[in-house]
Amino acid sequence: MAVCSFCGNEIKPGTGVRFVRKDGKSFSYCSSKCQKNTKLGREGRRKKWTKAYVDFKKATGGTAKKKSSKKKKKKR
Ligand SMILES: [Zn+2]
Repeated sequence: MAVCSFCGNEIKPGTGVRFVRKDGKSFSYCSSKCQKNTKLGREGRRKKWTKAYVDFKKATGGTAKKKSSKKKKKKR
């Protein structure tokens, strides 16, 4: 079964969209939501609602979030 290129969910037969780029690389999407998010330049593993996020988080041990430059609070 095909897997969505954006969210990582399985695509049921008869559903979804396959997009083939000019260079020949093909992407399959389970929904227009995933297709549009890719078009907006988003990464699936950075979005919390995707399966790819959960898998990525598991693989990295819960450090899937971007390293943020937290400013230290000054004690008053
Ligand atoms: Zn998807």
